[in-house]
Amino acid sequence: MKQYNAYDNMLAVLEAAADKLGLNPNDYEAVKYPERELKVAVPIKMDNGRIRIFEGYRVQHSSSRGPCKGGIRYHPEVDIDEVKALAAWMSLKCAVVDIPYGGAKGAVKVDPAELSRGELERLTRRFTAMILPLIGPEKDIPAPDINTNAEIMGWIMDTYSMFKGYSVPGVVTGKPLDIGGSLGRQEATGRGVSIITAEALRYLHIEGKNIAIQGMGNVGSVTAKLLHEAGCRIIAVSDVSGGCYNKEGIDVEGILRHLASRSKTLEGYSEPGMETISNEELLSLGCDVLIPCALQNQITAQNAGGVRARLIVEGANGPTTVEADSILAEKGIPVIPDILANAGGVVVSYFEWVQNIQNLMWDEAQINDTLKKIMIRGFNRVLDFVREKNVSFRIAANMLALQKLSAAKTTRGVFP
Ligand code: NAD
Repeated sequence: MKQYNAYDNMLAVLEAAADKLGLNPNDYEAVKYPERELKVAVPIKMDNGRIRIFEGYRVQHSSSRGPCKGGIRYHPEVDIDEVKALAAWMSLKCAVVDIPYGGAKGAVKVDPAELSRGELERLTRRFTAMILPLIGPEKDIPAPDINTNAEIMGWIMDTYSMFKGYSVPGVVTGKPLDIGGSLGRQEATGRGVSIITAEALRYLHIEGKNIAIQGMGNVGSVTAKLLHEAGCRIIAVSDVSGGCYNKEGIDVEGILRHLASRSKTLEGYSEPGMETISNEELLSLGCDVLIPCALQNQITAQNAGGVRARLIVEGANGPTTVEADSILAEKGIPVIPDILANAGGVVVSYFEWVQNIQNLMWDEAQINDTLKKIMIRGFNRVLDFVREKNVSFRIAANMLALQKLSAAKTTRGVFP
């Protein structure tokens, strides 16, 4: 069986979109490769006095449309190809929703659940120090991703500021509110996913609203909460510990209370009428919308044939492989791609950065209203390509992004 590689997956889609667009080969070559890759070995003094080394990366895919922007992921199985793919998706995502950023991504190969809070803070601060030459408010701005959060962003901001000798809130987004974080940032990705889900359901005339969500972290839990509040029935959710299914609808408030407790996972959760299911079973449930909000490479050639959802909305980055995409297309299941569906996070990160560099504050209504406007504008622009070129939502979003990226590259020209 062919080994999954996120970077190959990203390139296969990009190439198909470049082809449909009739993109000049020079323009395609220019967007294929990341501009810069940094690999670091991060030494940490563990609580028991031993030194452990963790591998870390920061990849900048493109700065043609503005400063590079992208999250930092802590995960034991992350590798450089995954980070390169994620960095490219950030460039494409920012182009789809038309915010003036390029793309980047960072990661540390670590399972943070195995670290004490002190070890996690030392790891974050040392990693920040080691990628310091690359980051900064005018060149590359990190944000949260899998297993990183506002507190970790606060440590990054403080470490960077200590090196500079003054406070630099604009170096990172997704910070706590009391050090320059933005209202609405924590919920932004899930809010964007729920806005796009509503638009897609309306466009596709899907009346039913039974939803299954894989992943109950930042993105999945906010998506569940907002769709539930909007009148949808969340019939199943899952995370790394397994899943819960209730055909009458899961008690979303109960799940969120359980997750807010010390366990942080669904393990041990129960409610009347609920069945325990596996992640694999969740992906093949009969439902109106399946929303993967965990890791990449979840809907694959092996399980796509069993998907029974009427629509898939990608909250996670890269949850569907290229092979799975073809199988879903044959089955007539539309997929709203990650670079559109989960762009809400980077949109409000942009608002946070704008507030930081101008020293002003927006209220929450202004943030949520502008986010909604930008997400719907992105959806409609992608839809224009879907209709005009008769392509899938994924190819359409990639075509829109490629057009914007290559226009910026052409306008700037090739130095020297
Ligand atoms: P998170 O760490 O808050 O949550 C991840 C969730 O996935 C957790 O519930 C975890 O238990 C679950 N999970 C992990 N491994 C799993 C497995 N093997 N099977 C099933 N579930 C598993 O991360 P997040 O910030 O919510 O990010 C989730 C996805 O959304 C990622 O793909 C991330 O790149 C993407 N994303 C996040 C943001 C953001 O603002 N946080 C923005 C855009 C895209």
